[in-house]
Amino acid sequence: MGFRVPVAEMHTAQSLARSAKIPRPQADVLSAAFDAAAAVRRLLAHHDEAVGDALLRQEVMAGVGNVFKSEVCFVAGVHPFCRVASLTPQQAQDLIAAARQLLAANVLQDSGDTVVTYGGRRRRTTHASNPAASLWVYGRAGEPCRRCGEPIRRRLQGPDARVTFWCPRCQTLPDAAEVDG
Ligand SMILES: [Zn+2]
Repeated sequence: MGFRVPVAEMHTAQSLARSAKIPRPQADVLSAAFDAAAAVRRLLAHHDEAVGDALLRQEVMAGVGNVFKSEVCFVAGVHPFCRVASLTPQQAQDLIAAARQLLAANVLQDSGDTVVTYGGRRRRTTHASNPAASLWVYGRAGEPCRRCGEPIRRRLQGPDARVTFWCPRCQTLPDAAEVDG
């Protein structure tokens, strides 16, 4: 067992290096110290970015991955390609609240293959099942919106071309608010 110790130490060093880039606990949506008002301000600071891109920034909120980015926008009724500057104060608050709600219902405590369902239930997915079966919009391009029946749309977004899903009826885009991506 002793020969594994240096490996463990190296891993710890790497973890520490990574953790140096991880924002303070106030930015972790699942932290008891999470400050929603401060998160709204951090989101709004990225005024020239698309909402879908800004939500992935760890300094805005830690914990929102690419799947939840689309889900959070749907639950908040915000178009993911909408420019942050075009958000109303209520929409900004709704986005932060939706992120907390979805992630809190979906605490990834084991292998990370648990997803929150559109009904708010926790559901464990397997390789054999389709994870999108339990989500609002992610992975559901062309399928009917669970709220209004409109076909879900899919588009790549942002500098990293992350796949994004939304309902064009439930998530409306203000005039000239779109950010190319
Ligand atoms: Zn819809």
